[in-house]
Amino acid sequence: MSAPRVEIDLGKIQHNARTLVERLAKRGISVTGVTKAILGSPEVAHALLLAGVRGLGDSRIENIEAMRSSHLAARMSLIRSPMLSQAKRVVKSTEVSFNTEIEVVRRLSLEARKLDRTHAVVLMVELGDLREGIMPDDLVAVVRETLSLPNIVLKGLGTNLACRSGVSPDDTNMGTLSRLTELIEATFDISLEIVSGGNSANLDWVFGGTHTGRINNLRLGESILLGREALHRHVIDGLHTDAITLVAEVIESKLKPTQPTGELAQNAFGTCPTVTDRGTIPQAILAIGIQDVDVCGLRPPKGTEILGGSSDHLVVTSLTDNLIVGAEMAFQLDYSALLRAMTSPFVIKSFKSAANVSRLREIA
Ligand SMILES: *Cc1c(COP(=O)(O)O)cnc(C)c1O
Repeated sequence: MSAPRVEIDLGKIQHNARTLVERLAKRGISVTGVTKAILGSPEVAHALLLAGVRGLGDSRIENIEAMRSSHLAARMSLIRSPMLSQAKRVVKSTEVSFNTEIEVVRRLSLEARKLDRTHAVVLMVELGDLREGIMPDDLVAVVRETLSLPNIVLKGLGTNLACRSGVSPDDTNMGTLSRLTELIEATFDISLEIVSGGNSANLDWVFGGTHTGRINNLRLGESILLGREALHRHVIDGLHTDAITLVAEVIESKLKPTQPTGELAQNAFGTCPTVTDRGTIPQAILAIGIQDVDVCGLRPPKGTEILGGSSDHLVVTSLTDNLIVGAEMAFQLDYSALLRAMTSPFVIKSFKSAANVSRLREIA
């Protein structure tokens, strides 16, 4: 089979998603399945829908358009604030978008009117992580104008923590989101359908047994795909952590010294790697590199160690004698490695379907 490739076990992803959907349902929380880390793959999206997610969310309109054109029957949300220049595409392909700028909501209103459609918005509130969000003091004014715009429906509020600064969801910031929800409902005499509390970093808080207040939705990507929560990367009980693996092929295998010869300066990426001399050891080169994957986010098989990497080469050593040319090696990926591998056109995406485990379907 061709390499390098990402192997995606749809059955395991479906199991992970269903487990989280069921556990969160007990706490009154729905799941939006986030597809950006797998580049809006319709195969994965389909598995998420079979598992009972409430809808799909992606940060890139291109991914949503790809899922639309494969005729997935699902509600789709753009979970990054739309670019003004993409407002028309957003109204065309999504039911909902997450917003932080009233100027963008005005444009969405205009485009929705032209297309004779209604577009729903979730307003994102800044609660400490300092990525996207309306400052809480400005929220009432933004809601007031949003409610006045034709062809726009205010669907709810949301927030995003942990991604930029690592701020943990807790009773304080989640409590603030619940209180803001009640303030908006009381001020405008409306009821908000969605209060979206965050991402895979919220799971510890939700399952910690505390009162979850008005939070009734989470947007989950990493926890479904990799089986880990996103604050400490702890494995979530009962979830598969090996639903996705990266396979690369050995193109060189030799005994080589660990110590470079000659005067040392910057390498291709402007850094000066330090090496400890371990004498001469078996070393292999795999045909994959920094262009295809975040090498720091790879976990090699037992007995194998990553020694270094450059654009197109990954250098490893192994205690086992399986480093022959043409052999394949499988790695586990973290979120960053997964994002980049899925985005590299050089990495084949290969799906193991839930129904037919023995058959691997390849797409270019
Ligand atoms: C990426 C993203 C998510 C999903 O995050 P995970 O940690 O993968 O669960 C949720 N919300 C927003 C706004 C995002 O950009």
